[in-house]
Amino acid sequence: MTTTRPSDLDTALSQLDGTGARPRAGGTDLTACLAHGVLAPAPVVDLTGVDDLRGIRWREDGSARVGTLTSVHELSADPRLRSAYPALARTAGALATPQVRGTATLGGNLLQRNRCWYLRNPAFDCFQTGGDSCPAREGDHLHGVVVDQGPCVAPHPSTVAVALVAYDAVVEVAGNGTAERPVADLFDGADPTRDHVLGPSQVLAAVSLPEPVPGERAAYLRATGRARAEWPLVEVTVRLDCGAEGRGPVASAAVAVGGVARTPLRLPELESALVGAVPGAEPGAAVAEALDGLADLCSPLPATGYKVALLRATVRAGVEQALGLARD
Ligand SMILES: Cc1cc2nc3c(=O)[nH]c(=O)nc-3n(C[C@H](O)[C@H](O)[C@H](O)COP(=O)(O)OP(=O)(O)OC[C@H]3O[C@@H](n4cnc5c(N)ncnc54)[C@H](O)[C@@H]3O)c2cc1C
Ligand code: SF4
Repeated sequence: MTTTRPSDLDTALSQLDGTGARPRAGGTDLTACLAHGVLAPAPVVDLTGVDDLRGIRWREDGSARVGTLTSVHELSADPRLRSAYPALARTAGALATPQVRGTATLGGNLLQRNRCWYLRNPAFDCFQTGGDSCPAREGDHLHGVVVDQGPCVAPHPSTVAVALVAYDAVVEVAGNGTAERPVADLFDGADPTRDHVLGPSQVLAAVSLPEPVPGERAAYLRATGRARAEWPLVEVTVRLDCGAEGRGPVASAAVAVGGVARTPLRLPELESALVGAVPGAEPGAAVAEALDGLADLCSPLPATGYKVALLRATVRAGVEQALGLARD
């Protein structure tokens, strides 16, 4: 199969349009999917030569537009990004391994395929590969969802998406014109046939973040089955606006979780309960109640009941870390 390496976005889009070709960024997932038969053989359009997808642009209000070829490592290490968006930096710095983070890109991370064992084994058919069933639902779904949103039970795999949902980031999609949409709208939990809604001839061009919150307190935590090189069973990104010095009571909070549903999820009841909490002090009863309420969000599969308690414990630890109550 051929690989092309266009140097501008229009050429990349024309090489994807109606050709069955697949866009490749860092290649850490696409290459494996093609090599192992998760995806049918297809021409590849290597995006790494497209300058339009590179770079971080800072707007006058201090907000950033981040090109999708930006590496996951850069998301965690770029000094200005770290200072403006600490929750994004912490989240990106915790995923996979240094080698993967150095190669993987923002766009590829958001659009990677899920990790379901059945999907990754070409001997099985399922909704995601043109079949009409989900063998994981009746079969081995130990790492599956605990919030059941639809026929597919594979949790969304993108860790960066969890942070971006917590920032209400906006993505720029090129192809059939250019459109902006909330990052959360890239994912549709009810559609079992795909992990994101981008069409085959569309390219994710950039992600826009909101104006930074001075003094933002941030945390990212994950529960995993092994210490390194593993996708999380449950993960949480927490952002707290505690005033410019980061010491005042919480004026607003954003909490997003991954590993539990087909899409990253915000936790609005907990976010409301956190308003007024004071850094360094135990949060009040409303927060405890909202944490207990997370169980009501859950609709566990036969083998994912363990995630109900894990979700509560991981979110609680993330909140405590953001409030400065726990060791980093
Ligand atoms: C050991 C290990 C542990 C890992 N742990 C985690 C983890 O905890 N959390 C996590 O999030 N990830 C994890 N990963 C996965 C890794 O982060 C992804 O493979 C990587 O982010 C994909 O980025 P990429 O640039 O290499 O994408 P690619 O492999 O190049 O592409 C991935 C998909 O996105 C499409 N694509 C890429 N860029 C664009 C674009 N701009 N527009 C349109 N389509 C595009 C491709 O066609 C392909 O379908 C892990 C990987 C390994 C090997
Ligand atoms: S439909 Fe989803 S959960 Fe079911 S086998 Fe396919 S990828 Fe796995």
